[in-house]
Amino acid sequence: MQYLSVAEAQKNVLESVSEQSIEMVKLEQSLGRVLAEDVKANRDLPPYDVSAMDGFAVRSVDMVEAPKILEIVEDIRAGDMPSQSLQQGQCARIMTGAPVPQGADAVIRVEETEALEGEKVQINSVVKPGNDIRLRGENMGQGDVVLASGTEITPGVIGILATVKRAQIEVYRRPSVAILSTGDELEGLDEPIDPNKIPDANSHALMAQVQALGIEPVMLGIARDDPAELREYLQRGLKFDVLLVSGGTSVGVHDYVRPTIESLGVQMKFWRVAMKPGHPMAFGTLGNSMIFGLPGNPVSSMVCFEYFVVPALRKSMGCRRLYRRTILANLTHDVRHRPGRTEFIRVVLDKKVGAYEAASTGSQGSGILLSMAKADGLMEIPADSSGVSAGDQVKVILL
Ligand code: AMP
Ligand code: MG
Repeated sequence: MQYLSVAEAQKNVLESVSEQSIEMVKLEQSLGRVLAEDVKANRDLPPYDVSAMDGFAVRSVDMVEAPKILEIVEDIRAGDMPSQSLQQGQCARIMTGAPVPQGADAVIRVEETEALEGEKVQINSVVKPGNDIRLRGENMGQGDVVLASGTEITPGVIGILATVKRAQIEVYRRPSVAILSTGDELEGLDEPIDPNKIPDANSHALMAQVQALGIEPVMLGIARDDPAELREYLQRGLKFDVLLVSGGTSVGVHDYVRPTIESLGVQMKFWRVAMKPGHPMAFGTLGNSMIFGLPGNPVSSMVCFEYFVVPALRKSMGCRRLYRRTILANLTHDVRHRPGRTEFIRVVLDKKVGAYEAASTGSQGSGILLSMAKADGLMEIPADSSGVSAGDQVKVILL
């Protein structure tokens, strides 16, 4: 099998993803979920023309010259309804959010006025029609789609849902995710330190990557490089919507992951991607389940998660935007690159006037997890590039 490019592999993964079904959740439990319905405004907001300021509602025709003294005929607070319409030379004291009375077509803020004896006020500047008035329906008009299906529910979105009185909403279910590490050399977090072993970083880093998407994964533990044991673990894992296996996906004699998942009926879609770090990276499906065979090297495992698992999980959760945001940054130093594979350099970003600067986090070996721990983003060097130079503009995905 040929090496796929990163873009081909991503496309291949996304073709296998089906959206989760829909469930109803309470508004207060919806943060981080994804809307599975278009949400419409149930009334005009504001419901009438309201003042945007504390001040005086006036007739702009009275205010073509300033200063001018007007008679205050009433006080209108938010929640009040005006009792009369303004006549020539009249104004109403009005608070932010209060309805503008009939006859008035503008508001002048209190800072532009001077209180006088009796119910009179001096307005110190001219006022244009519409000044400081929020028009009826300016925020939303009844029946408008204010939030489209596929919107991620953020605090601002929750504010809108409350505004349109949605105590319950339809969201996509979250996929179930299981995580498995493989390797005879691995030592679990709870196991005593054995100088001959390698601590299992991947299970935990992957768990956090999954949690960051709002999904609570199930940790299957560590499977030894033993075909029978691996088979048992993989069988359990394939009951989940998504199984993440790290290690053992290469072609070493003890890399049993691929033959074992194939023997369990998984249809392998690809197992080689032209990327660095990253290959070997395997992907297959069994029914609606997806299995990602991530490389054992901790950096590779995390980078492959970012590029293949994130868009797959986001698509399955119904998100419209599948990929992380990217920015352009200016590189502060040369990076050599041999054409062939897309390379992902872990970078720190520094905001300078007008642009971001990107600098490598240091040693970029695929086993050097500190390079990832320090990173703000991943800088992409295209496969066909023969290196990038200091000052070049590069694309960085934000972690
Ligand atoms: P493998 O893909 O199994 O050949 O593993 C490649 C490298 O990654 C080896 O040096 C492994 O020891 C290391 N490795 C594999 N799995 C993990 C893990 N869960 N945590 C930390 N390192 C790992
Ligand atoms: Mg291994």
